[in-house]
Amino acid sequence: MATAEIITIGTELLLGETVDTNTRHIARRFREVGLDIYRTSTVGDNSERIARIIKEGMTRAQIIITTGGLGPTVDDPTREAIAEAFEVKTEYQPELWEQIKDRFRRFNREPTENNKRQAFIPKGALPIENPVGTAPAFIMESGEHAVIALPGVPREMEYLLENAILPYLRERYQLTSVIKTRLLRTAGVGESQIDDKIADLERLTNPTVGLAAHAGQVDIRIAAKAESNPEADEMIAKVEMELRERLGKWVYGVDEDTLEDVALETIQKNSWELIVLEAGLGGRLIKRLASANGPFLRGELLKGLPSQEELISNAKALQSGSSTLVVLGAVLKSNGDQQNLKLVIVTPVEEKSVERSFGGPPQLAALWATNLCLNWVRRICYSEKDG
Ligand code: AMP
Ligand code: MG
Repeated sequence: MATAEIITIGTELLLGETVDTNTRHIARRFREVGLDIYRTSTVGDNSERIARIIKEGMTRAQIIITTGGLGPTVDDPTREAIAEAFEVKTEYQPELWEQIKDRFRRFNREPTENNKRQAFIPKGALPIENPVGTAPAFIMESGEHAVIALPGVPREMEYLLENAILPYLRERYQLTSVIKTRLLRTAGVGESQIDDKIADLERLTNPTVGLAAHAGQVDIRIAAKAESNPEADEMIAKVEMELRERLGKWVYGVDEDTLEDVALETIQKNSWELIVLEAGLGGRLIKRLASANGPFLRGELLKGLPSQEELISNAKALQSGSSTLVVLGAVLKSNGDQQNLKLVIVTPVEEKSVERSFGGPPQLAALWATNLCLNWVRRICYSEKDG
């Protein structure tokens, strides 16, 4: 399997001003065509450091793909840096200059002398026309290596990746294998408890099984490398079945499924509707339910932090024996390092209340509490109907 590294270039990325979305996009596309990514890194607009990181990358991986630093100004150093890494000069490419001028003319503008810098690429590089922007891209080949320079603007980068780079890589590295992944999403269970149940599966090498814990929610990722999509699907399905058997109702969904969607779905199945009372969660619970599809009637932000008794009586008063209403009340209180959540749910058939505490980082408490509430709705309303 061919190996690759991604290098994103731009001081704005290091300063935290621009979020690096290019790495994620390229990583996903590379994975889908079966390229193994060894490392990703970000470097500022500094020619010498870019050259060094490219040379380093080439000791590990066959394909180095960079984004950014191809603009027309002096602080766009990628052309020079790649030339430096290969110990060549940059060379003026008249056809590239023609393409740049054409593109400007189509927008009734004149290129500046600066833009001419973009027509210089490392000697020996393959120029790649950029029909969606002005910065031409290029590929520098050497032995089994290819160093690919793409513009930083995500839309241009994505276009060139799809239409020029992936076809080139498929051909040159005979990419036939695929890597597919599937997420099993769980809630209501801790990472270590899951780990206990599936430790042996986490040691598999293909597919691999890995955990990612979020507050109140744990994702299990299954990733399979195979020669075809159906083969990968089959490998994943086997492991998924085993995982589901061991984890049972902790699994609430897959891939992009959200707890709020699943919670509302269970309410919908009962032909019920949900009302939420919340305090201390910063409106998160209401916001997530409002953004989901399903029978969420309304939410109320409570003033102050009511006691458990007040919360229960409020919820019961609202529900008032209705045959369709579910009322969920949640109050999150900070008690020094401990975050305390009071929960009540009144459905047409039962009433439950609990208190839970969270010892994790306080800034994650509201997320934890929200996930816990949504999972509670899912579990309690599910058990009403399906046992
Ligand atoms: P450049 O090609 O370096 O001139 O980048 C042009 C613009 O693309 C920058 O101003 C950023 O807004 C954006 N950009 C560059 N690199 C990235 C990246 N890795 N992820 C997302 N946006 C980026
Ligand atoms: Mg830049």
